[in-house]
Amino acid sequence: MAAIIDGKAISEKLRKTIAADAAALAQRDAVPGLAVVLVGDDPASRTYVSMKEKACQKAGIYSQERQLPEDTSEAELLALIDRLNRDERIDGILVQLPLPKQIDTARVIESIDPRKDVDGFHPYNFGRLAAGNPLFQPCTPYGIMKLLDETGVDLTGKEVVVVGRSNIVGKPVALMCLARHATVTICHSRTRDLPRRVVQGDVVIAAVGKAQMIKGEWIKEGAVVIDVGINRIEGNKLVGDVDFAAACRRASAITPVPGGVGPMTITMLLANTVESSKRRLQG
Ligand code: NDP
Repeated sequence: MAAIIDGKAISEKLRKTIAADAAALAQRDAVPGLAVVLVGDDPASRTYVSMKEKACQKAGIYSQERQLPEDTSEAELLALIDRLNRDERIDGILVQLPLPKQIDTARVIESIDPRKDVDGFHPYNFGRLAAGNPLFQPCTPYGIMKLLDETGVDLTGKEVVVVGRSNIVGKPVALMCLARHATVTICHSRTRDLPRRVVQGDVVIAAVGKAQMIKGEWIKEGAVVIDVGINRIEGNKLVGDVDFAAACRRASAITPVPGGVGPMTITMLLANTVESSKRRLQG
């Protein structure tokens, strides 16, 4: 049976270090600050924003929640970001996605000062990641790399199969694995014969958003499985993209859902904010 990669425990351990770093910065009058911008009142986004706020408080990070109405214009949002870009107390700016239809998401992301782009979504930061010289690494993929590190997985020469090619998970995590000298295959909805690809993976990273679509028999004996998916099935139960019970019988280690990748995303947001504050202090 596979070992369970406990994202909750790893996350708690990292948050202690982050809180200690934040306290050290506070002693030097450089309390790390995060601004979280929420446009509209999507209940899921609201929940994420309040989780981020609470996590900041616990870690000793100053947080500013900016809530704007659903009918906010793009110009109004850009003006707020401009103010936050210039606000000395703020080291990180996060705009909660998705944004309402009247707002061009790409333009908003590009308006964030790349030095405060703690989500790592700005094209400048994406480009630096692709070039192997990242400034900020996007939080979910960064969290996945931490989970692999904490599990003692050395990616050098390994076959990594990433299922999903989104800009926020699949693509960046593939780049990060490449930077760690893995041989990376990226699969997506047009990939032919997905099982044949997945079974090659010493490490399989599933970021699709389809409940339990990666079957246990697709997993190579001894593979490490990272399940990013968050899907609700009957009875409101949360499951990942991987058929967990079946995959457990073949994998050497696997992340559960919930309690795997999920807790790491906010942790890495805190880590990026503290890192940004340190950089500001160093000038
Ligand atoms: P997207 O919907 O943006 O991307 C999904 C990807 O999966 C696409 O590249 C798509 O291919 C691919 N895909 C869809 N169907 C198939 C299929 N049948 N076979 C192979 N590939 C397929 O999702 P995200 O990357 O944003 O998120 C993925 C999952 O991870 C979701 O469940 C999401 O909730 C979860 N998530 C969890 C986070 C966490 O903190 N734990 C953070 C972010 C996301 P194509 O490009 O061809 O359309």
